[in-house]
Amino acid sequence: MTESIRNADVLIIGGGLSGTMLAVQLLRLPGQRHILVIEPRAELGRGEAYSAVELGHTLNGNAARMSVDPDNADDLTQWLTGYLDAGGWPQAHQQPVPISELFPPRGIFGVYAQQRLAEAKALSASTVEHIRAEVVDLIVDETSTRLTLDNGQQLRGAYAVLATGMFPAARTPQTESSGVNAAAVDPWDVQAMTRIDPQSTVLIIGSGLTMVDAVVSLEQAGHRGPIEIFSRHGLLPHVRRQPPSWEDFLAADPSLRSPRQLLREVRRQCRIAQAQGIDWQAPLDTVRAHIGRLWSQAGEREKRQFVRHVRPWWESHHHRSPPLSAQLVARLQEEGRLRIQAASFKGLVASDDAVTINVRRRGEQVVTQVAGAALINSSGIEYDWRRVARPLPQQLLKRGLIQPGPLALGIAADVSGAVVDAEGKVSQRLFAMGPPLRGMWWESTAVTDVAIQAKALAARLTQR
Ligand SMILES: Cc1cc2nc3c(=O)[nH]c(=O)nc-3n(C[C@H](O)[C@H](O)[C@H](O)COP(=O)(O)OP(=O)(O)OC[C@H]3O[C@@H](n4cnc5c(N)ncnc54)[C@H](O)[C@@H]3O)c2cc1C
Repeated sequence: MTESIRNADVLIIGGGLSGTMLAVQLLRLPGQRHILVIEPRAELGRGEAYSAVELGHTLNGNAARMSVDPDNADDLTQWLTGYLDAGGWPQAHQQPVPISELFPPRGIFGVYAQQRLAEAKALSASTVEHIRAEVVDLIVDETSTRLTLDNGQQLRGAYAVLATGMFPAARTPQTESSGVNAAAVDPWDVQAMTRIDPQSTVLIIGSGLTMVDAVVSLEQAGHRGPIEIFSRHGLLPHVRRQPPSWEDFLAADPSLRSPRQLLREVRRQCRIAQAQGIDWQAPLDTVRAHIGRLWSQAGEREKRQFVRHVRPWWESHHHRSPPLSAQLVARLQEEGRLRIQAASFKGLVASDDAVTINVRRRGEQVVTQVAGAALINSSGIEYDWRRVARPLPQQLLKRGLIQPGPLALGIAADVSGAVVDAEGKVSQRLFAMGPPLRGMWWESTAVTDVAIQAKALAARLTQR
């Protein structure tokens, strides 16, 4: 019934870091707008990443790298200085480094995002309201967008923005049917870790940063038994250090394009750095600023080559581990308690008092059974919206309002984030930001990506 529809200027679907930073940027612009952020979680600004309660679940970059203000790289360091002065995060004082070099717990970063929202609200003529619900459907016409919430309520706005973040791989129909979801412990469920027998063997699928979080939680929960980790390539994230600056060699040579050329040149630069006694992370870190351009310029064949040949290497070298977590993983490896094996997961074997999984080790034909007392699924993110079993992605696909992005990573959009529909038409009303744009930019999830996109999208939405 139209009477019950609430109206707004901008409807932001998802109130994690992306949705919240978009709201902050809209509030900072002149004018008077009403913005609704629809988010089922109790608090805005957190999402999965910044809802962490474990102090050991830290950002994977130091404060100087994690500002949410694209115009002020020191924003987080400045906020953190005040937070520590006020008695927050007392454990930070045990680390003898400048505040800009601290790796803040992600839960504290959530407080920072929330405070930036509160400040922007207090200073703005515009308003932001949090509607606690899940958006289950969306329609678009020439002049507006209309959302349906899981409580039946309808909202209408001039624009809608998909800031729906990342969907865990564990929620896809494929893993549902293999039984992994039912058997596995949530890698961020700190309470569930305390219920695991401390001397038992724990199996973990996936060896990225989520696995690192899970190992931190197991240790905190008092687990002292073996940890067996299986991932396709058996690669661990490297530890993040603070390398010195290095010449931006990609800016100096724009002819470098194909994944093969790029990889060869990055390796060459790393060797030069190491020969001079400089950390290989210095040249690698210069690549980050170019990755969106390189990815969006690449053809489908090159993108596939990158995903097949470079991705595992990029993930383990670029998405690096915070130092304290990396030290823990290294210590457990040295003690022989933690083992990483290159093996693919081939299914779960039902059993009452244990978890048994089938794995095929790299280079072997046979499938081996491995048993443990608990299984943690940290195998990552599902970027293909066709496989996300949530109502909104399914409805958007069914209505033809979106189409899969390149390589089916997220959804297609133009450079401003305007969503492309099933017929290739660029929407004037529906936008996306953050992880849904993975296929457009490759890197579209980190704090800095989100912060930059939020500012640009706010300007785009208010330009008329
Ligand atoms: C565990 C973890 C740790 C991370 N650590 C770092 C880090 O250290 N450094 C870094 O740079 N990046 C990190 N990231 C990347 C991280 O994704 C981004 O920094 C940021 O959280 C992305 O924000 P987002 O709002 O786009 O997504 P999310 O945080 O996933 O938030 C999306 C929100 O949308 C909501 N939502 C989804 N669908 C609907 C719907 N239909 N209706 C209403 N609401 C909906 C969800 O409830 C969720 O709260 C981490 C990610 C994870 C998962």
